[in-house]
Amino acid sequence: MDEPKFHLIGHFKLSADATKVKEDVAKLIFKSNEDILRKGAPSGKGAKVINWDLDKNAIMVEIVSDRYVRAHDALIRLRKVLAALLGKNHIGIRGIGIEDFTIQMPSEEPLKKNIPFVKEMRYEDGKILLALDVDEQQIENKVPDRIISLISEKVESSKYGKKEHWELLGQSKKKIHKFKEDPTKELTKRRWIKHGAGRGQWVFGPQVTRVFRAFGEVIEEEIIRPLGYNEMMFPKMVPWDVWKRSGHAKGIYPEMYYVCPPKTRDPEYWEEVTDYYKVTQEVPLDLIKERIDYPIGGMCYAQCPPFWVFLQGETLPDDIFPIFLYDRSGTSHRYESGGIHGIERVDEFNRTDLIWIGTQDQVIEHSKKLQERYQHLFDDILDIQWRNAWVTPWFMAQEGLTGLAETREVGTIDYEAYMPYKKDWLEFQNLSVNGSKYPEGFNVKLQSGEKLWSGCSGIGMERWGAAFFAQKGLDVDNWPNKFRKKVGELPEVFRFL
Ligand code: ATP
Ligand code: MG
Repeated sequence: MDEPKFHLIGHFKLSADATKVKEDVAKLIFKSNEDILRKGAPSGKGAKVINWDLDKNAIMVEIVSDRYVRAHDALIRLRKVLAALLGKNHIGIRGIGIEDFTIQMPSEEPLKKNIPFVKEMRYEDGKILLALDVDEQQIENKVPDRIISLISEKVESSKYGKKEHWELLGQSKKKIHKFKEDPTKELTKRRWIKHGAGRGQWVFGPQVTRVFRAFGEVIEEEIIRPLGYNEMMFPKMVPWDVWKRSGHAKGIYPEMYYVCPPKTRDPEYWEEVTDYYKVTQEVPLDLIKERIDYPIGGMCYAQCPPFWVFLQGETLPDDIFPIFLYDRSGTSHRYESGGIHGIERVDEFNRTDLIWIGTQDQVIEHSKKLQERYQHLFDDILDIQWRNAWVTPWFMAQEGLTGLAETREVGTIDYEAYMPYKKDWLEFQNLSVNGSKYPEGFNVKLQSGEKLWSGCSGIGMERWGAAFFAQKGLDVDNWPNKFRKKVGELPEVFRFL
């Protein structure tokens, strides 16, 4: 897809009749073809005005170009020099109109998709032919460039499929598992948990909660304290701006829970809704839908994006790094649709998220330390059968950055536990080095000018629980000693008749 070609017909709207300077315009366009429309391109490359005309209050231009100076950029460059020339004669440029804008992209395959601002797409002789419907503002905002990237990305992903890259890194010893049941079924049978009223949501009873809290204590003793983590509390309603900066706005729409505020909090505005409910005992969803506003964002999806607002726009002294932070202040929410299963895949989950920030070296070094701590924790305290694997993180796959992942510096490690009841593996946590992605997205800088990097690791309580119970069962006597001690007595609170 390396050599797209551009063809654009457009015009500049002028504030007055410019006929008297037609000669000067001719000279300027001739000269522009030699200099500004080639600037920055290898010799012989760039954009060219192949046709033009001045008709009173408008200058029409026809531009062809390669990828070095794209036709729409050429148009903007031309506007600048034309404005200077016309300005001397007290004529202004009022705007740009685009009559026709077509792009040819060499491609081994056609693409059958509707793309924003593309009014026509055809496939001919190994090329995707696009007719764009864009105006001045979209050109200024680089929409055509992003259309090209988007199409390349879609063609690539249809070629390689959506399979995630997965490569085994390490594994624990095989263990003998006496327990072979589905942990959710056993937990439900014992009344330790009950399905919540919402989709993919559970009420965790006192016993399971004690176990989750013991996980928390283990994390505190083995990771948080020895590695110097500090607790913070991150917001759990995430506005669009945060997801634009974190990159999530590129793809989480099918999985996020949307948050809509009321259009007003005036009780009168809502009276019809309350009255309807009072007389029918039904919640009138249609009436509510009319009274709520557009979503302002969604519920926490990944934990760390809203943290970055704390550092947004700041320049920080180098000597405060590396910094280690964690949040466990609330739930995360994902619409898992048909995928929900027991406590393993839920729509509402509890997770501790660790974040470490520093220079590239500091972040990579810490990632190794953290991996060692996890290994010790899973082997010596929880005594579970686990493995970990190098996977292409979502954002690299989405942004076509898989090359960076090859160096094994930026990327994600998934931790998986063996689930005897289904003879399969379950991801129960991950560990990512995100490179400079977040500091760049949120515009956070180091005083020295060195790049700031970060990493994060999401530890899911429901997943830890599912893995632990699936391997160890629900009888405390079969639990590894160290962990059993941590748990102490399981609280027996309820009896059911
Ligand atoms: P999966 O591939 O299983 O859907 P994921 O790759 O979407 O997981 P991440 O986005 O990497 O998960 O989230 C980090 C951690 O958050 C996971 O390792 C897991 O512990 C937890 N987590 C994510 N989604 C869920 C879920 N639906 N239910 C329970 N825990 C979850
Ligand atoms: Mg998922």
